[in-house]
Amino acid sequence: MKTILPGSRIGVLGSGQLGRMFAIAARRMGYRVHTYSPDRDTPTGQIADLEIDAPYEDIDRVREFALGVDVVTFEFENVPAATAEAASQCALVRPSGSVLHITQHRLREKTFLRENGFPVTKFEPIRKMEDLRKAMLGFGPAILKTAGFGYDGKGQYRVKTLPEAEAAWTAMERQEAVLEAVVDFEAELSVVGARTERGECAFFEPFCNTHANGILDVSSSPAPFDERVCENARDLARDVLEALNVTGVVCVEFFVNRNRELLINEIAPRPHNSGHLTIDSCITSQFEQQLRAVCGLPLGSTEMLRPAAMANLLGDIWGDGEPNWAAACSVPEAKLHLYGKSNARPGRKMGHVTATAATAAQAEQIVRAARSMLGRRPALQD
Ligand code: AMP
Repeated sequence: MKTILPGSRIGVLGSGQLGRMFAIAARRMGYRVHTYSPDRDTPTGQIADLEIDAPYEDIDRVREFALGVDVVTFEFENVPAATAEAASQCALVRPSGSVLHITQHRLREKTFLRENGFPVTKFEPIRKMEDLRKAMLGFGPAILKTAGFGYDGKGQYRVKTLPEAEAAWTAMERQEAVLEAVVDFEAELSVVGARTERGECAFFEPFCNTHANGILDVSSSPAPFDERVCENARDLARDVLEALNVTGVVCVEFFVNRNRELLINEIAPRPHNSGHLTIDSCITSQFEQQLRAVCGLPLGSTEMLRPAAMANLLGDIWGDGEPNWAAACSVPEAKLHLYGKSNARPGRKMGHVTATAATAAQAEQIVRAARSMLGRRPALQD
C-alpha cells in the first residue's frame, strides 16, 4: 500500500467549492493540486496549481491528467463512469469507480442499501407508466425523483394523486425514476466519516440539518438528540463505509422519524455541505480528512473544539446587488467563506458563514444574524 506524502500531486475531478476547500487543506499540508473539469477560473482552479479545462468525455485528456498526479479523487460524483475508468488506468483513484457507480444513481444506491439490510425510506423503481400506477396504490404522499444526476432537491416532485404523479413523470421526460414515500421526519442528520485503505475509520459527530426548497440551509452540531440516536447514526455510517469498502470520505444523510428511528436518505462519496463547519470547529476538517484518507496517512482527530453552526449563502442574496460583506463581518464570531464564483444565480451555492459558541443553538443564532446582515444596505456616505 502506497502512502502519498506531502510534495506529491493530487488530482481532483470536478472544480467546485468542495474541491476548493480540499485544495486549501492540501496546499496547507504541502501538496500540489491539479483540477480537471469542463470550466475555467473555477472555485477549485483559483486555488490549484494547475487547472485543466476539458470535457469529462475527452478520455485522452483524462489519461494525461491522471498520469500527471499521484492519486485522483473527486469533488463531484457525477463524472461519467468511463472518465473514472480511464483515470484508474493511469493513477490510483480514491474512492474507486465502483463506489462512484453506486452513489451517483439513486436507484442503485437505494437498492444497494436495502440489499445490505440498511433502513431506507420505502421506494419503488419507475421505468414505465405501469410501475408508477402500481407504486402509487401502495403509497400515500410521495416524492418522485430522477434516478440519475439529482442533488439539492433537483429533479424532484411531491405528488399525492396518480394524475399528479403521471404529470410529474411526463415532465421528467419519463426517464428512470424512484418513487419514495414522504417521511414525516422530526429532523435530518448527517454523519461524515473517513476510511483508509487499511480499514481505519473516523467519524465526526452528527450534524443536524435544515433545508429550504430542497437545498441545505443551516447545519449545527452537536445535534439535539440523546447519545443513543447519535451513536446509532455513527454505527450505521460505519457499516455503510464498510459495505462500500471505500477509501475516502463519505457522508451518510439520515431522516430521524417520529419514533427517533433512523432512515438513510442518501450517501455522498465525498465531503458534504453539512460538514463545512468542521473547518472552523474541529481539530481536523472534513477536507483534511479526505486528503489523509486518499493519501494513506493516519486519520486526524475529529474532536469538536466548540459547538458550531453553518448557514449557506445562496445566489439569491445578490438580489439587490452585492451583499453587504462588511456588515456580516461586524459580527465578530462569524467566519465568512466565499467560493470565488462570479455569477450569482438563485439557488447557487456561493459561500457560507460559520460560527462557534457555547452551544449549537447560540452558534446558529450568530450565523443567522450574520447572514441577515448581508442584505442591509450600507449607510450612504458623503
Ligand atoms: P435529496 O436530494 O433526496 O437529499 O432531497 C433533498 C431534501 O428534500 C432532503 O434533505 C429532505 O429535506 C427532502 N426530502 C427528500 N426526500 C424526502 C422524503 N422521502 N421525505 C421527506 N422529505 C424528503
